[in-house]
Amino acid sequence: MSRAKRAVVIGGGIGGLTAAAALHRGGLQVTVLERAGSLQPIGAAISLSPNALRALDVIGIGDEIRDLAAWQGDGGLRTPGGRWLSRSDADAAAERFGGPLVLLHRATLIDSLAALLPPDAVRTAVTASVADPGDADRPARVRTPDGELEADLVVAADGIHSAVRRVLFPRHPGPVYSGFTTWRVVIPVPGVRFASHESWGPGRIWGTHPLKDGRVYAYAAAVTPAEGHAPDDERAELLRRYGDWHDPIPAVLAAARPEDVLRHDVHHIAEPLPAYHRGRVALLGDAAHAMPPTLGQGGNQAVEDAIVLAHHHADLAAYTAARLPRTTAVARQAVKVARLNMMSNRAGIAVRNAAITALSKTGPALFLRSFDGIADWRPPQSPYASQRTRLGER
Ligand SMILES: Cc1cc2nc3c(=O)[nH]c(=O)nc-3n(C[C@H](O)[C@H](O)[C@H](O)COP(=O)(O)OP(=O)(O)OC[C@H]3O[C@@H](n4cnc5c(N)ncnc54)[C@H](O)[C@@H]3O)c2cc1C
Repeated sequence: MSRAKRAVVIGGGIGGLTAAAALHRGGLQVTVLERAGSLQPIGAAISLSPNALRALDVIGIGDEIRDLAAWQGDGGLRTPGGRWLSRSDADAAAERFGGPLVLLHRATLIDSLAALLPPDAVRTAVTASVADPGDADRPARVRTPDGELEADLVVAADGIHSAVRRVLFPRHPGPVYSGFTTWRVVIPVPGVRFASHESWGPGRIWGTHPLKDGRVYAYAAAVTPAEGHAPDDERAELLRRYGDWHDPIPAVLAAARPEDVLRHDVHHIAEPLPAYHRGRVALLGDAAHAMPPTLGQGGNQAVEDAIVLAHHHADLAAYTAARLPRTTAVARQAVKVARLNMMSNRAGIAVRNAAITALSKTGPALFLRSFDGIADWRPPQSPYASQRTRLGER
């Protein structure tokens, strides 16, 4: 009997764990090396659209995630004063894209992915690097503090500041600052009733959405110089910037403690890589194509990458051909949306808002239109796909 192919995955985030689960399902022997001491992600939520959920169907957890998550789409776009610019509903979203858009805590997604792997497949507190990308005649070699591992395939899922990307493509300029910072909280907000919304002010946005477990996920983004910090604490900074915005924002701010608020500057890869592979190493997720979170697609695209990579694991040029054009287009669209929703010029904002309102009167809300060409993606057929995907997609 021939030996199972060995895959080493560097990075145990959403992309790395999805790839590991898909490769394991395809019969490869998989080892995940994660630098952090655990797989525990940051305390924030993530939205998943039907494209990624269909990809998760391939590894058998699409329905589990749909069940654990809140459906998104009921609500819409507002001004800081609360006027609705456009409204959408979750059923319309599900109908348009053949399935729901959902929101769940990142830890829930990571737990479901990790549960698909054999217990000894994940090694935490291991910082890994590529010693040799290998080629058709030579295995790749991955360096760890405990020695080197040989691999038929290396999946570099080591995130936006990927060290593997620098080894594979040393001349690539890497990520750039996107021009804005973000804040996120996941907290209980007792007694508050609200419709999901994202609200756009000058150079600033705020979103509030319910999670299925009753907690509230709120995020904000604002145009600022990179590496800024509040002089006091980040909750106080949010109060200064958003304290006079419409309900339920003041209630969310009242319920948040300073230590609940996460702040992160946003970076993205502006210049696409020439390829997503070299030798036996494939890049995926943020390591390959980090994008602004304005379409909520960074994680979704990482999940798509992972499923497509498992499908093409023996032909990495086919993986690049399948993923580079799509992810480049989605990333460019995310940059365009960032320009639209972070607009600071008041005259421009008035024109933009009028256009959004007019568009929404003549057809689907902007929120839904922004997923056209993205949320309708379908995974390649795979002999390892779960029953549901093979029998026909919804
Ligand atoms: C504010 C904000 C909101 C967002 N909201 C959404 C959303 O709603 N929906 C969505 O789809 N996306 C969203 N995203 C994007 C999403 O978070 C990322 O695209 C996604 O996490 C990328 O997954 P990844 O697995 O590629 O990388 P990561 O999640 O960054 O994982 C990389 C992992 O590699 C590990 N690592 C790094 N170097 C090494 C090494 N040398 N050795 C071993 N391990 C290593 C890291 O510790 C980390 O665990 C958002 C991003 C931001 C900033």
